[in-house]
Amino acid sequence: MQDIFDQRVLCSDCGIDTRKNYVIKDGFELRILECPRCSKVIYHPGDLKEYEDFKVLKARDFNVKLRMVGNSFCVSIPKELIDFHREFERELNDLVKLNLDGPGKISMFFIGGKVYKKH
Ligand SMILES: [Zn+2]
Repeated sequence: MQDIFDQRVLCSDCGIDTRKNYVIKDGFELRILECPRCSKVIYHPGDLKEYEDFKVLKARDFNVKLRMVGNSFCVSIPKELIDFHREFERELNDLVKLNLDGPGKISMFFIGGKVYKKH
């Protein structure tokens, strides 16, 4: 599939070539085209969509039940969260890291996850 960012894109206001760059938002790297004269920014449509999807998921609260299995407790992680994670990692590592983050808070990290970088 052809990527618009591989094309020559002119600033619609100045009519001069835009330059490839990137911005970081919430840990996301979004590719942009930037006009060197007026600083107008065009976001990569694919990156922008992923970022928008992320914000929607991030705003949601998931309530899941703790279940006792043997001497451990299990929680079910909603599929949407795993699906989202999978878009950035080709393979899902079945090991995750847990930390007691503070009173009333446990954090979970996917192991082997490279820092999010698309290109
Ligand atoms: Zn411009």
